[in-house]
Amino acid sequence: MLRVAVVGSGPSGVYTAQCLVQQSRVPDVRVDVLDRLPCPYGLVRYGVAPDHEKIKSLQNSLRTVLEHERITFLGNVQVGGDGLPPDRLSELYHAVVYCVGAATDRGLGVPGEDLPGSHSATEFVSWYSAHPDSAADDFALQARSVVVIGVGNVAVDVARILARSAEELRPTDVPHPTLGALAGSRVREVHMAGRRGPSQARFTTKELRELGGLPGARVVVDPAELALDPAYASAGTPTDSPAPLPAVARRNIEVLRGWAEADVPAAGPDPVRTIHLRFFLRPVELLERDGRVAGVRFARTVPDGGGGIKDTGTYEEIDAQLVLRAVGYRGLPLPGLPFDPAHGTVPHLAGRVLRDGVPSPGEYVAGWIKRGPTGVIGSNRSCAKETVASLLDDAPLLEGRPAAPDPVAAMRAWGLRPVEWDGWQSIERAEAALGRSLGRGPVKIPDWDGLLEAAHSGRR
Ligand code: NAP
Repeated sequence: MLRVAVVGSGPSGVYTAQCLVQQSRVPDVRVDVLDRLPCPYGLVRYGVAPDHEKIKSLQNSLRTVLEHERITFLGNVQVGGDGLPPDRLSELYHAVVYCVGAATDRGLGVPGEDLPGSHSATEFVSWYSAHPDSAADDFALQARSVVVIGVGNVAVDVARILARSAEELRPTDVPHPTLGALAGSRVREVHMAGRRGPSQARFTTKELRELGGLPGARVVVDPAELALDPAYASAGTPTDSPAPLPAVARRNIEVLRGWAEADVPAAGPDPVRTIHLRFFLRPVELLERDGRVAGVRFARTVPDGGGGIKDTGTYEEIDAQLVLRAVGYRGLPLPGLPFDPAHGTVPHLAGRVLRDGVPSPGEYVAGWIKRGPTGVIGSNRSCAKETVASLLDDAPLLEGRPAAPDPVAAMRAWGLRPVEWDGWQSIERAEAALGRSLGRGPVKIPDWDGLLEAAHSGRR
């Protein structure tokens, strides 16, 4: 028997476990999927926006995998930090696959970034996703104007949630206090700003287009600003185009052009919100008034002719009482494992962890900690497959190593209190009961005590 620990129960961890039990090269593989949280599914539960029900429903297929007879979910097991050290974990299993994602956000590195009222988009996402580590209450949403820095899908998610009404989000699993804060939101203007042009934006077309269909919001773009991008100006007349645009960029541009050419409905009475999509604005400083963020100072940029930008020497300030920095995620080092700080990833060869440049059989990575925070959820399938292939190549060597007969008992002896699958099911029942008591569908429990109480007692 080959015993494997997968650390992380997001899509990359679950797909890794699935590949391990579905292959036939090494028939008797047992997989324990560990997670720091008592709940499985990683970013599908705590990152995918609550109004993206279709993507959220992916939890159903992840569930089927975690219920496989040779897979065991063990939540509330932290690896590293105050938890189980990676070297101790390696003694319990023949192999460990780290699928820990990219746990923090990239910094902007500009003055004022840490002012009250300036947050990473990750903090805002954690708040509306009921992540138990969320330091909840700075999102009272008293701001009238919000700047979202970055033009990736996370920026689109947070702009969309800010532009939606509480009623639209009521059918989702958004925690009740968050729904209350959104109901009292005074936000009217959401400015989403990219430092480069529309053809270099990182959002995908479906997500972009969705902004134009929000019931209580309108999207405003400035045709003159879009036209600074040569790819925008020439799209549709390919012979003039400086280089063929990737399909996503071409479709994005079509959507933006549609908005630029449409008659924008006048701002109606409250609660109409306006999403301003801005480009060629590079943030240089977050402005302060009375100890809080009051706006963002941007350097105006133009294309440099080589895919990058250059400053024009002119500046623009946008007032904002809330700033959300959506400039990407970053992997964090795990003590005891090698780390590449430049990329925020663990160095690897086809998924095998490299120690001093040499593959270390028994230690593997998959997902964002392996390849960086890019791609869609499905990208994790091929990534997991590659890693599992490396692990199986190493199996003859790994099987000869010692492993603990009962890793869960060893974890308990170490002082951990794993939440097993029945504990997670208790949490699900408690969330359904909480929702019923509020006249809603299942509503997430937002705090550690509540989750652990539900997991261990089966009641809430
Ligand atoms: P992202 O796609 O990498 O976008 C980051 C954005 O921040 C880019 O516009 C980038 O501009 C900008 N940026 C980076 N550093 C900056 C700086 N110093 N100053 C100003 N702007 C800066 O990251 P993300 O939005 O966090 O998304 C991460 C991954 O999750 C992506 O693969 C995304 O597709 C995925 N995701 C998908 C969904 C969905 O499918 N619905 C939802 C959420 C996330 P430059 O391009 O100029 O660097």
